[in-house]
Amino acid sequence: MNNVNLSNLSRRRFIAAAGLGAATGLFAPRILFAQETGIVPTMINAAARAKIEVQPLRRDISVLEGSGGNIGVLTGKGGKLLIDSGFTVSRARIAAALDSLSSDPVTQLINTHWHVDHTDGNAWVHSAGATITAHENTKKHLSTSTRVEGWSYTFPPAPAGAIPTIVFDDEHHVHQNDTRIALKYYGPAHTDSDISVLFEEADVIHVGDTWWNGFYPFIDYSTGGSIDGMIRATERNLTIVTNKTIIIPGHGPVGNKAGLTEYHDMLVAIRNNVAALKKQGKSLSETIAAKPTAAYDSKWGQFLMTPAIFTGLVYSGV
Ligand SMILES: [Zn+2]
Repeated sequence: MNNVNLSNLSRRRFIAAAGLGAATGLFAPRILFAQETGIVPTMINAAARAKIEVQPLRRDISVLEGSGGNIGVLTGKGGKLLIDSGFTVSRARIAAALDSLSSDPVTQLINTHWHVDHTDGNAWVHSAGATITAHENTKKHLSTSTRVEGWSYTFPPAPAGAIPTIVFDDEHHVHQNDTRIALKYYGPAHTDSDISVLFEEADVIHVGDTWWNGFYPFIDYSTGGSIDGMIRATERNLTIVTNKTIIIPGHGPVGNKAGLTEYHDMLVAIRNNVAALKKQGKSLSETIAAKPTAAYDSKWGQFLMTPAIFTGLVYSGV
């Protein structure tokens, strides 16, 4: 497997990663410094400065953007249910955003997968009163030291309070605030711990990092992800949603079936282009030089995953 190192990100991409497109030069030196230390500290530093945007969706469901992955929120008298917990450095701003929605306490947290930008806040959300539910592999990876080669980073075990206490292997159902919530395992996709979270009555689904809306996705081969798994997960998402479904991606703006379809077609086309070049015997650097993503770069290649990095991620799996 070819390790794809994301340490060398341009400052522009970092700011995009943090949702700081309108950033001024005020914090640029810090960001440039952070860039030297790798993607994980960089994401944390970006989250520490990012504003938390609250977007109401449908039927007491909202999304918070600005701290790692998108955070879904269901409000109601029975307590708030959160999907993913962002970075701990955003705690005060996430708590303020949650308070702005309602005064209900947080009682439930669901993790879409184990990655730090979706689970780092688990400990404080748990201490605030939430029971944590996730796929069993999320518990497994958070419980032990886990390396992500693509980030050149080894995560220590998470603190006890951050570990999910309700886990499942295929399917799980939660009932909260007169809302039925269906959790379903994708099988190996972006990692080996990804689940979808469907609010049945509202027809709103959080698909975690199986969808990066508008950006080439990261794929974590170190914990079971692959390009073919990503494509399979996207095909399943397309069978679940209709033109009316509101889709919360792991990263990027809230989207719909048309956007998800375009993403699927991009993944398949690039997979096929890269596979053809690899079959011809081309090395990774020769494959990158052949620009198999060229037709898609202006739309999808402007975030964390550059065309070259994404080509490497696909090359590893074909
Ligand atoms: Zn992820």
